[in-house]
Amino acid sequence: MHAIAIHGGAGTLSSAQLTPESDHAYRAALEGAVRAGFEVLGRGGSSLDAVTVAVQMLEDDPLFNAGRGAVLSASGLHELDASIMDGRDLRAGAVTGVRHVRNPIVLARWVMERSPHVMLAGDGAEEFALEQGLEPVPNSHFTTERRQRELDLLLRGEKIAGAEALMGTVGAVALDERGNLAAATSTGGMTGKKWGRVGDSPVIGAGTYAANDCCAVSATGHGEWFIRAVVAHEIASLVRYRGLDVAQAADQVVLRQLARMGGSGGVVAVGRDGRIAMPFNSEGMLRAAMDSRGLLVTGLLKD
Ligand code: ASP
Repeated sequence: MHAIAIHGGAGTLSSAQLTPESDHAYRAALEGAVRAGFEVLGRGGSSLDAVTVAVQMLEDDPLFNAGRGAVLSASGLHELDASIMDGRDLRAGAVTGVRHVRNPIVLARWVMERSPHVMLAGDGAEEFALEQGLEPVPNSHFTTERRQRELDLLLRGEKIAGAEALMGTVGAVALDERGNLAAATSTGGMTGKKWGRVGDSPVIGAGTYAANDCCAVSATGHGEWFIRAVVAHEIASLVRYRGLDVAQAADQVVLRQLARMGGSGGVVAVGRDGRIAMPFNSEGMLRAAMDSRGLLVTGLLKD
């Protein structure tokens, strides 16, 4: 059994904004990324490689708030966050506030595999990237017209179709044929963020978690709430200690606990049995899933 689920952010668009063209573009991009990850699993590759490949594709796609296409901070720069976790042994890697790393998920993976640390921030993370031979890109590499417009509107105090339009993230979870789980998440954070703000995406246990004895989870949504509710680990704990299946656990946290607190967003999660859950309490969550039993779904808003 192998399975993969990905997301391209919660609440990044509303039904009012969705045109047939954008519907098609989002679905095509999601399907491309989920298929790329699934192909890795299909040829016996690891869940870690599958989530890396899928997230890297979404980072390179300007439609999503990660890598190219990431949102701008108040200072007009992109500050990117990413994390990855290996369910086999709970190894993890994360980077936060990087400005010149084309694929932050690759750097997060290298932090896990090539450094003795779990999280590297800002200039230090960039220094590590250089030492590891990653070619830096100018910060403008990540800029798109849409994100510039969104920041301009925000700084002028104008409303941008709801606060949720200012977020977005990409992520993936997978189970491979050897029963190994992995999760990865990457984001530009929130438009207009200041003071070195860090959301949940690079925080292990909040935005990302994977452990072979329970499940893999990648989150998207209003990061402050996801950190406070320790969303990804909370879901894992419900599976581990309460014996809930992954769908029950994810629903409990996303649709009840988080919703009660006022935290908007969702998760993709996969259990040891390959079952996938993709609950969200926002208007939409860009998502896709595939498994070796023939499942292939893409979704944007509520079904
Ligand atoms: N969770 C991300 C953050 O707060 C944003 C998002 O997923 O939309 O940085």
